[in-house]
Amino acid sequence: MKDNEIRTRLAPSPTGDPHVGTAYQALFGYVWAKKNNGSFILRIEDTDRERSSRESEKAIIDSLKWLGLEWDEGPEIGGPYGPYRQSERLEIYHEYINRLVAEGNAYPCFCSREHLADVRKERQKAGSSSGYDRKCRDIPPKEAAKRVEAGEEFTIRMKIPLEGTCVFEDLLRGKIEKDWASIDDQVIMKADGFPTYHLAVVVDDHLMKISHIIRGEEWINSVPKHVLLYEFFGWEPPVFCHLPLLRNTDKSKLSKRKNPVSINWYRKTGILPEALLNFVGMMGWHLSDDREKFSLQEMVDNFMLEDISLGGPVFNVDKLLWLNGRYIREDFSTDELLERLVEWGLNREHFRKILEICKGRMSCLSDWGELTGHFFSGRISLSKEELLLKDMDDTETSEILQIILWELEKLDSFSKENIYSLFKGLSEKLDIKLKYLTQPLYIAISGNAVSTPLFDTMDILGSDISRTRIRCAIEELGDLSKKRLKLLEKKYDSLFGDS
Ligand code: GLU
Repeated sequence: MKDNEIRTRLAPSPTGDPHVGTAYQALFGYVWAKKNNGSFILRIEDTDRERSSRESEKAIIDSLKWLGLEWDEGPEIGGPYGPYRQSERLEIYHEYINRLVAEGNAYPCFCSREHLADVRKERQKAGSSSGYDRKCRDIPPKEAAKRVEAGEEFTIRMKIPLEGTCVFEDLLRGKIEKDWASIDDQVIMKADGFPTYHLAVVVDDHLMKISHIIRGEEWINSVPKHVLLYEFFGWEPPVFCHLPLLRNTDKSKLSKRKNPVSINWYRKTGILPEALLNFVGMMGWHLSDDREKFSLQEMVDNFMLEDISLGGPVFNVDKLLWLNGRYIREDFSTDELLERLVEWGLNREHFRKILEICKGRMSCLSDWGELTGHFFSGRISLSKEELLLKDMDDTETSEILQIILWELEKLDSFSKENIYSLFKGLSEKLDIKLKYLTQPLYIAISGNAVSTPLFDTMDILGSDISRTRIRCAIEELGDLSKKRLKLLEKKYDSLFGDS
């Protein structure tokens, strides 16, 4: 590595669908590294064993590749500071955790979950902003070591100063201050021996020689803990640059309730990667001549981190569609566009899957057109009356569709077998016959009560498109009020909580 090399990183946790927020952080990190002839690093932060999965990691990697944001170092390709998957770096973290304990900057905590939950409740009631009473902080180190040796379960916590203020710089916001008293003694190693995010991110950013941490604003509150860890280790922290939060058109924080947030949805809907990158590049940044359509290379050439503006950027899907349309009309010859269409869905492999489930309904080849339209459309037109569940009104139907959505979100693998057993389970729990329960789904998914088999169709369309179509159906029926949604959530938790 050259001295003073600009090194940025994307550090996604593989715990779900690839999010547009990940594309946003990736783009800005990538552009800043390339602008400075530096390196862009991909690090997989999979320390949450329950929520992380290899499928999610693969989906994130696929979507970044589709966007064309290639990294210089990362899990598949390696690099000088690997491994780049945190679950493969446990020994490294243990070395640093042991050092913190040995130097008196961290300590084992033996409190049970129950005790911690009780203390948190009590302290919340008393108006305290921190949740832990630091019960184990003063156990003499020798006694603590004995208890550890005897096999008692423990976590490790870092010692946060009891008073004073933490001051740090954010490149876009300047000086930020936070009172130490409001911060808990953060757990840095869990009972399963895995580090928490806070410890791992600091150790890795240091060892991987990251010069600029470019990530979402939601991480600002974690910085004091990180700054303290850098201090404990005697390391120089990187530059912190927290990007403004992406917002829905109503200015609330971007959420999947109001907007598709999975990169896969945009890909499957037929947004071009060039347009999506360009659009994400407009989130808080613009060219000096205010031109809205620009290429990745133009962004690299003109980009300065300091130019990012903090006024909440709005992720307006209509605007993205407008931009995408410009790319389609202005940047491609018919033959080039045809290539894109083939890649997107007009290919043998995709046709074959569809034909498999359609052929039973075809009497001549030209039936194909009418039978398969829903596999190649974005939004489909719906009629409210047709969506209604037997003997139910629009709100009741919406509620059932919402429950279906929540259940679908929990599916690890969106296969027709899994979807079928999910609906079967739902039909029993909700006491609605399967054929009635699926009836509005036919309309929501294919726009037609008589159509291709539902579960196969959802399997082929994939989870993002299927879920968005169900969400559109709920919208069509009239969104549920906040209050109703809260009540429904409670009912859902009690019915499905442990499933
Ligand atoms: N693993 C964190 C995430 O899921 C990374 C946060 C960071 O960039 O420090 O976003």
